[in-house]
Amino acid sequence: MSSKYEVTIGMEIHAELKTATKMFCTSKNDTSETRPNVNICPVCLAHPGTLPVINKEAVRAVLRVGTALGAKLADYTEFDRKNYFYPDLPKGYQISQYEFPLVSGGTLNGVAITRVHLEEDTASSIHDEATNATLVDYNRSGVPLMELVTEPVIHSAEEAGAFARELQLLLKTIGISGADMEKGEMRVEANISIAKPGENLGTKVEIKNLNSFRVMERAVAYEIKRQEELLESGGKVLQETRGWDEKKQATFSQRIKEGSADYRYFPDPDLPSLKISEISEFSAAELAQSMPELAWQRRERYLALGLKKDDAEMFVRDQRFGSFFEQATNGMAADEIALAANYLANDLASHLRTREDLNDESRESVRRDSINEADIGISADNFAKLIRFVAAKKISSRSAKDILKIALDTGSDVEQIAKERNLFQTSDTGAVGKVVEQVITDNAKVVADLKSGKSAALEYLVGQSMKALRGAADADTVRELIRTKVSS
Ligand SMILES: [Zn+2]
Repeated sequence: MSSKYEVTIGMEIHAELKTATKMFCTSKNDTSETRPNVNICPVCLAHPGTLPVINKEAVRAVLRVGTALGAKLADYTEFDRKNYFYPDLPKGYQISQYEFPLVSGGTLNGVAITRVHLEEDTASSIHDEATNATLVDYNRSGVPLMELVTEPVIHSAEEAGAFARELQLLLKTIGISGADMEKGEMRVEANISIAKPGENLGTKVEIKNLNSFRVMERAVAYEIKRQEELLESGGKVLQETRGWDEKKQATFSQRIKEGSADYRYFPDPDLPSLKISEISEFSAAELAQSMPELAWQRRERYLALGLKKDDAEMFVRDQRFGSFFEQATNGMAADEIALAANYLANDLASHLRTREDLNDESRESVRRDSINEADIGISADNFAKLIRFVAAKKISSRSAKDILKIALDTGSDVEQIAKERNLFQTSDTGAVGKVVEQVITDNAKVVADLKSGKSAALEYLVGQSMKALRGAADADTVRELIRTKVSS
C-alpha cells in the first residue's frame, strides 16, 4: 500500500497463563471448562474478608517470557489495584501491575517490547437471549493473565500479524499458555495512528476483540485505509475504540475516548511486594536453564543445515512436522537431512493435505489442537529408512514417491514395499552391478538364449550372480538388473 502517510502500530497482547490454579487463590485454572461457575471460591468471587495469595508459578511464567525476550527482569516488583466498576469485576478493582512490571524491554521479531506484566483475568459476561439478561460466569475470574505491550514500532498489518504469530509460538514453545485466540486464551489489541512523515503522531485508534490472526490483519489493514481516506477528505480521526464486524468486513466505533481513564492505581495492601533476587527459583540461571530451543534458534539451526527457508519455517511453526522432522533426521548426514526436509515439506505434507481435505482456516485450527505424531501417518523411523534408501541411490526419487504413498495408505514397512514391487534401483554402480556384469560377460551363450526368449536362462544368470554375491543381494533386484542390462 503506497501512501504518503506513515503508519504507526503498537500492540497490547493478553495471554492467559496455563497454571494449575488461579492467580490469587487455589481454584482450578481451566480455560476449557464449559459449565459456568464451577472453578470458583470465595477469593475469586470477592467475598469480604478473603485474602489473595500470589501464585508463584504465574510469576515464574512471566519471568520466563522476559528471559526469552532478552528483557530486563525486575528485582523489585509489586501488585497494584486498578480501580474500575464493571459487572465482571466483583472486587471493583483488578489486581495488576503498574509502576513495577515484572519485565521491561526486550525484543521479539525485531519489535521492541515496552513491558510485560502480570494481572488477573476478569469474569465473563454472557448475554442470555431467553431471559434477556446478562449472566456472569466467574470461571475466568482470577485466572493469571500476562499483558505484553510493544513500542509503537510496527508499520503494517503484515508486520503486526507476524509479531502476534511469533509471540503465540513463543508462549506455546515455552509452554506457559495455550495461546489459542479462538478460545480467548490470547487477545490482541492494536493501536493504530497515521500521520504525514515528519509530523507528530496522529490520533490513536484502538481496535479490540480480534479473535484470529486473519481478522487481526484484515482489521488493521482496513483501519489504516479508513484513516487515510478520512484524512484525505479533510476529516479528523477520533480517539476511539473500534471493533471488527465480520459480516461487513469493517471496523466500527465502540466507544469514543475522552481523556484517559483514571484507575487510581495503588499498591495492593493485601499482597507483599516481591524481591525477585531473593527467590531462588527465579534466579537468572534457573530461568535460563528452563528454556527449550526457541523458534529463532531453531530457525537458525535449520538454515545452517541447508534447509530451504520455507521448509524451515514450516517445521518451526508446525509442531507436528517439527517434531517428526527432529525424530526422523536424528543421526542423519547432511545430504540425508536436506532430502528428508524436502520429502517432508513437499510430498508428505501434500499427501496429508489431500487426506485431511481441509481449507486453510480449519487446517490452522487442526494444527493447533492436534499436535500429534500419529497424524503424520507414517512412523519417523520408516520415513527415515526411505530417505536413506534414496540418499544411497538404492531407490529412485520417482519410486520413493510411490513407496511413500503406499506406506501412508497401508502402514507397511518401506523396505518391504520396495522389495514387493521391485523398486530397488537397478544401478550400474556398486558391487551388485559389477558382479552381474561379470556374470553376463562370462555367460555369453546363456545371455543369447535369454535374448531369444528362453526364460530359464534368466534364472540361471540370477543363480550365478547370487552365488558370486554369496547371497548378499536381493534376488528380485538382481533379476531386474540382469533384465535391464541384457535388453539394453
Ligand atoms: Zn478462587
